[in-house]
Amino acid sequence: MDDLRRLSDAELVDSLRALEARQRETMAAIVAHVVEIEERRLHLRLGYSSLFDYCQRALGLSEDEAYRRMTVSRMASKWPAIVDGLEDGSLHMSGVALLKPHLRAENCGELLEMARGASRRELERRLAARFPQADAAEFRRAQKVKPLSAERFALQLTIGEATCARLERALDLMSHENPSRSLEAVLDRALDVLVKELERTKLAKTKRAPKTKPPANATRKREHETKNDVKPTERDEKSITRAGAAEIRRIRKRAIARPIRREVFERDGEQCSFVGESGERCSCRSGLELDHIRPWAIGGPSDVVNLRVLCRGHNRLVAEDWFGKARIEDALMAGRGG
Ligand SMILES: [Zn+2]
Repeated sequence: MDDLRRLSDAELVDSLRALEARQRETMAAIVAHVVEIEERRLHLRLGYSSLFDYCQRALGLSEDEAYRRMTVSRMASKWPAIVDGLEDGSLHMSGVALLKPHLRAENCGELLEMARGASRRELERRLAARFPQADAAEFRRAQKVKPLSAERFALQLTIGEATCARLERALDLMSHENPSRSLEAVLDRALDVLVKELERTKLAKTKRAPKTKPPANATRKREHETKNDVKPTERDEKSITRAGAAEIRRIRKRAIARPIRREVFERDGEQCSFVGESGERCSCRSGLELDHIRPWAIGGPSDVVNLRVLCRGHNRLVAEDWFGKARIEDALMAGRGG
């Protein structure tokens, strides 16, 4: 601070301008780095479930900053002009992120031009005029759960006509036990039923204990660290070459016996079991899938020892390591009917 006090007014202004320019260059470089990190799937290899998770936990960014950095980086990987705009200061991060729902190959030039030099508010106004239906998307983004105190939360969302009708019907049917027509009572009851149903289908949980006891060696806690290192042998390589896209696609649809499913989910603590190169275990607990450590397409068994719980990102990463990025992308495209 003392150093700054010695500067003349003009020097102070120049110095600040130079710092701003340096910051813009740094931000453009950061965006380019994040693009490359994602391209190499490094965030997954390090044990993070997604690029968002990596930006938040590894880079220490707030939720908003992490979202913005991830969004802008993904857009910049498609439209490199964004990096140039960030660097020369004609575009800013929050402006670019606002373009996301609308940016297409055919309007890219027009929209980037619209964003140049515009403040966030001005750009919001221009986008609303250009895409009048955008408020629907805005509403969807507005859904949120906000803590009010340690025990109470505010829930805000927009619902469609059919959902609204079902809600009214549930309130009517519950009117004796819920005369005040409390939405919380309906939601709580509905979620209770839903969670039980999902636990049954996704985690294969049952009320009854399993009839047969699994073999002792199958129940021991597996060493996740070593299993991440399973690599294809020379014989595997031949099988991998034979395993076509259709075969890989079938991996996702194949049924695994419920008791095995239940045991694997219990053993892995209903959490992704991937451990990154630096020892970081993935913290993801949603969208979990069962993965064959030795792939099913090349003869890996569907038993407790060969199965593990992975999040979608890590399941895809290990599949890419076995079968190659291009082949997995093809298989997923075909699976989507694209
Ligand atoms: Zn994971």
